[in-house]
Amino acid sequence: AKKFILDKSFNGPPTDDNFKLVDEQLDELKNGEILVEAIWLSVDPYIRPYSNHVSPGTTVMGTQIAKIIKSKNQQYKEGKKVFCSTGWRTHSVINPNTLEKDVMPKFYVLPDFGNLSPSLGLGVLGMPGNTALFGFLNICDPKPGETVVISAAAGAVGSHVGQIAKDLGCNVIGFAGSDHKVKWLKEVLKFDAAFNYKTKDVTAALLEAAPHGVDCYFDNVGGEFSSAVIYRMKSFGRVSVCGSISSYNTNPKNLPKVPMLQPAIVFKQLKIEGFIVSKWAGEWQNGIERNLNLIKAGKLIYPEHVTQGFENLPQAFMGMLNGDNIGKVLVKV
Ligand code: NDP
Repeated sequence: AKKFILDKSFNGPPTDDNFKLVDEQLDELKNGEILVEAIWLSVDPYIRPYSNHVSPGTTVMGTQIAKIIKSKNQQYKEGKKVFCSTGWRTHSVINPNTLEKDVMPKFYVLPDFGNLSPSLGLGVLGMPGNTALFGFLNICDPKPGETVVISAAAGAVGSHVGQIAKDLGCNVIGFAGSDHKVKWLKEVLKFDAAFNYKTKDVTAALLEAAPHGVDCYFDNVGGEFSSAVIYRMKSFGRVSVCGSISSYNTNPKNLPKVPMLQPAIVFKQLKIEGFIVSKWAGEWQNGIERNLNLIKAGKLIYPEHVTQGFENLPQAFMGMLNGDNIGKVLVKV
């Protein structure tokens, strides 16, 4: 078995030095335990900020879709595919019955996705999918005809939010980091407008695409970008603060100062709410089912950005933080 450990704590953007691939000797299975083999590994932005307080030598955190290859647990038969949160490992020994209960689902047998790839259990039919569905609908409470702005709009969560908003009949404006992504948002996802935030001033873009202001903002990036959007909100606008990726590579002590938000929040009477998707852990499988129904109804396009080879996990992770991807970033073992 192999795994990646955090060899050196992150300091700024991740580099090869932060990761080390090591062998792992696994113990014989005890009663109740299962041995799973990773098929797909999820590459997620949260790994960067959540690893700030992790000691070097620890297995890199992460989730995977794996196959049970040995079982000493009647309930979990060999051959079944499972979702598990065992980090960047090729093989893991788990006792599903004694797994510590966490706020986030850590282990479950993958629901039946029909002919669809089990990898979707890490994306549109998993955590990012539930983030988009619950984080957008429950916090932004969007109405048909309203103007919705999305940052990191070509990523796993952002592209999903945009399609839900389009389906509701909203005027959808996306921001992403390349002209190629902007073209994809407009031509494939049919966003009403999209802009490259690296080459276009955000305020100017919003004056052009939303001259009367923004009703809902689904925020994946934070920072100066988001302050600019918040100053273009309409009265009683709603902001769902999902992520803050523009700050993830910066030491929390050195975060840049951004324009003050309170005047906009007060005088426009905005609702701004942060969330972590575990908040809806009780509705997890229901969220998956709702997203599966959207796929079956032809309402979701869900590209996957796949890197082959377990040993390339660090490259896939660094590439995602650099914006290499459209859609969900995955590694196939
Ligand atoms: P994505 O698929 O969106 O990949 C990350 C994207 O972020 C990159 O492709 C890049 O696209 C963009 N990005 C990177 N750096 C910056 C920057 N400095 N400024 C603006 N954009 C940047 O990842 P996910 O869909 O998995 O996650 C999107 C966001 O949602 C993240 O912030 C993540 O932490 C958050 N999240 C929050 C959850 C919660 O429970 N609150 C759960 C899941 C995700 P580009 O080319 O456009 O720059």
